[in-house]
Amino acid sequence: MQGLDIYGLFLIMLILFLISSLLRTILERKRTRKEEYETKTLLKCPQCNYTEERKFQIGDYVLKPEKQCPKCGTTMRIHRIYAVKIVPQK
Ligand SMILES: [Zn+2]
Repeated sequence: MQGLDIYGLFLIMLILFLISSLLRTILERKRTRKEEYETKTLLKCPQCNYTEERKFQIGDYVLKPEKQCPKCGTTMRIHRIYAVKIVPQK
């Protein structure tokens, strides 16, 4: 190929570099997608400090009154909302 000059070669190298960096970005994104997080809600009874953990539900917010405490019947409130890393099961 006589018509391929140095600029054409440079352009091909540049395209190859862009493709390889793009592939690397996609692979890294796939790897990070494996690390999934789950949002949990911690309920706490203000009377006896009984705590209960459950999955986060839409509409949850801190201090929101929830169900009654199974120990003393006081209305439990959302104490904390946090995310935990899901460990992939083998
Ligand atoms: Zn209680």
